[in-house]
Amino acid sequence: MLNEKNLLNMALTLYNKKRNFKETSEPAGKVNKTASKLIFVVQRHKASRLHYDFRLELDGVLKSWAVPKGPSLNPKDKRLAMMVEDHPYDYKDFAGTIPEGNYGAGIVEIWDKGTYTDIENSENDKAVKNLRAGLKAGNLKFQLFGKKLKGEFALVKLKGNEDNSWLLIKHNDDYAVATDYSSEDDTPKNSPINKWLDENKKPAKKKTSAGPKQVKK
Ligand code: MN
Repeated sequence: MLNEKNLLNMALTLYNKKRNFKETSEPAGKVNKTASKLIFVVQRHKASRLHYDFRLELDGVLKSWAVPKGPSLNPKDKRLAMMVEDHPYDYKDFAGTIPEGNYGAGIVEIWDKGTYTDIENSENDKAVKNLRAGLKAGNLKFQLFGKKLKGEFALVKLKGNEDNSWLLIKHNDDYAVATDYSSEDDTPKNSPINKWLDENKKPAKKKTSAGPKQVKK
């Protein structure tokens, strides 16, 4: 019979199936139970395309969405977030190079991390219940306590879409900005991805416009 632990481990079957752990240094999929606060992580990932991976701990795994444009602090700027397979809890610390020929080959770096709770900032057990319900309903509201991402956010599933399209939306609160926001303007110092991008710039192409300006608070 399937107990809770087995169901949780099954959650990582797809993750494990996609990866060859003899080659990649990513963590093998194991479910982890944490007692203390729930965590989130946002990884910047230069694979075939540069994107961000937004991950929320729930039930011992990291619920995961690939966000092509990265998160925004501007509530008007809803960012597409494609739900992908659950990742192991230990993935929260993963940064490094995934070798060529492997799933997601390229560079991963940590863009932001911290703790999170449900929208009401409930204690752990109640938060988990609310988050499970939100996830199931395709309307997940939460508070992030990161370095860059703070305050209220929502992940809302797009109706009528059988693919796993969601929108990542900043709620209007004290941490929201009204100006253009690009996560690319707030990348880590000594970022290996920026180094790679600098070294692999396409020479002939002229830039026609400057990117969005960095938002200073
Ligand atoms: Mn990715």
